[in-house]
Amino acid sequence: MPKYDYDLFVIGGGSGGVRSARLAAGLGVRTAITEEYRFGGTCVVRGCVPKKLFVYASEFGHAIDDARAYGWTVGEKRFDWKTLVANKDAEIARISKVYSNGVEAAGGAVIQSRAEVVDPHTIKIVSEGRTVTAERILIATGGHPYIPDIPGRELAITSNEAFHLEELPKKIVIVGGGYIAIEFAGIFHGLGVDVEVLYRGGDILRGFDHDLRERLTDIMRGQGIAITCNTDPLAIEKTRGGLMAVTNHGGRIPCDAIMFATGRRPNTVGLGLQKLGVQCGWNGRIMVNDYYQSSVPSIYAVGDVTDRVNLTPVAIRDGIAFIEGVYKNNPNPVDLAYLPTAVFSQPEIGTVGYTEESAREMFRKVDIYKTSFRTLKNTLTGRPERVLMKLVVDAETDKVIGAHILGPDAAEIIQALAIAVKMGARKADFDSTIALHPTLAEELVTMREKWSPPAV
Ligand SMILES: Cc1cc2nc3c(=O)[nH]c(=O)nc-3n(C[C@H](O)[C@H](O)[C@H](O)COP(=O)(O)OP(=O)(O)OC[C@H]3O[C@@H](n4cnc5c(N)ncnc54)[C@H](O)[C@@H]3O)c2cc1C
Repeated sequence: MPKYDYDLFVIGGGSGGVRSARLAAGLGVRTAITEEYRFGGTCVVRGCVPKKLFVYASEFGHAIDDARAYGWTVGEKRFDWKTLVANKDAEIARISKVYSNGVEAAGGAVIQSRAEVVDPHTIKIVSEGRTVTAERILIATGGHPYIPDIPGRELAITSNEAFHLEELPKKIVIVGGGYIAIEFAGIFHGLGVDVEVLYRGGDILRGFDHDLRERLTDIMRGQGIAITCNTDPLAIEKTRGGLMAVTNHGGRIPCDAIMFATGRRPNTVGLGLQKLGVQCGWNGRIMVNDYYQSSVPSIYAVGDVTDRVNLTPVAIRDGIAFIEGVYKNNPNPVDLAYLPTAVFSQPEIGTVGYTEESAREMFRKVDIYKTSFRTLKNTLTGRPERVLMKLVVDAETDKVIGAHILGPDAAEIIQALAIAVKMGARKADFDSTIALHPTLAEELVTMREKWSPPAV
């Protein structure tokens, strides 16, 4: 008779939890997973997937306009928000099922309930009012959007609600300068909404290469998106016609919706961790070692709840590494060096490795190669937006240590390029690769001139 009901109990059915549960069950580990909302978690239900579907939806507006320059006669453009939301919901319901079915097919138990930790080996299944025991508990509860404590904050929405708005607002204020704020600014703008971004910092997209940040800001402003930096809303008021954002500079911005994209906090409140002595950070994140173990040896955590790099592929890699280490005797910390990332802005940003700024701090001598050009496609459409590509090279080893693209399909290009960069490709390898013409990406292998700052 086993000592515990399960070998592994996973709390949270998102990217990290489901991958861990499915792999564990597949190995014959007696596994259960519980989810309080919908299987698939943030990525599937209110993150990457619906966001990208909305980006596609918003891009059609521009594509229809561009088609005219290519000889198409296009009738009146009309967009129906409710159709988009319904079609998106149907797809998400399908993927959500795939997630829970995958665990069941591997032999795991799937439970629909909130769970809380009672002691190092006991979990309360809240909606069923029962407890179960497990040798190990894996916490994969993700995070939630954070709204600062200002008067009227209950009138604001976050990305969670943006996916289910009853009506598309005529004007939206988006607070924040991170990737979620910028992506939603592009989405709403493309769907015909008047968008104003308020950001407390000096420049949007902190942490990305400065050239791309500046260029994207210019492009977005050129498209008609208002971006106001060094500005924060101090209060939200309800008006007869909608809402009013009151800013720290005394500005009053009337709008129909205010969306906060001002960061996320790990989901650990009420989980029962504090009383067990599980060590958590200032924002509630679970502190784990390289092998995902918390300060209580039977309790582990993966994904956003550990607040390290909050991206789906990282949560999944965490889950895989946890299983490898604990159940396959193959402990290997996840290598996050040269992690490719994207911003699904319009145009996109794709990036891997060091920015020019971070490289100059870390390496003795850095060479920069950059190019900016109009795409072939835009020669007919007349769109002024220019692609920006940048390579950051360690001058001592000739290794390409950073690649940054702002332009169409930047994310797709960077995903492939990240392999070469992670393998340690040198600039000479890029130079000896023959271009594929006509593409945007060919510019990556044809940049020959080192960039030097203009003489003052
Ligand atoms: C708008 C948006 C866009 C994003 N876009 C991208 C992108 O383009 N690319 C990318 O890589 N990442 C993106 N992300 C980040 C990505 O979604 C997360 O990094 C990823 O989902 C983290 O996975 P996770 O398993 O750690 O947590 P989650 O996916 O958040 O899963 C946690 C699950 O636990 C459940 N849960 C919480 N508490 C309990 C409890 N007590 N009991 C039971 N269940 C519980 C939650 O309901 C949730 O389903 C985006 C996020 C957002 C918000």
